[in-house]
Amino acid sequence: MSEWLTARSRGSTVRVSWHSNAALTIKEHAMKSFACGDVVPGCNARWVCSTEDEILAQVAPHATSAHGLTEISPELVSAVRSNIVTV
Ligand SMILES: [Zn+2]
Repeated sequence: MSEWLTARSRGSTVRVSWHSNAALTIKEHAMKSFACGDVVPGCNARWVCSTEDEILAQVAPHATSAHGLTEISPELVSAVRSNIVTV
């Protein structure tokens, strides 16, 4: 599992494709989780999605409505991504 995730985060399509069968199996079972409190202390919001992109799609409106952010900066995206854990 970790090997595929590492390859994917590096953007190595060759290794991902080599592990395509395993990756498909993992993708059905591994979920991504993000706790907003890891970035914004005191916030209890948490999401569990199948991909990081799905989490980011839900964190973005939360960040604007709950935390008053006016834009989703690259720094915020990377902070969210770095705090996403596989569950
Ligand atoms: Zn929050």
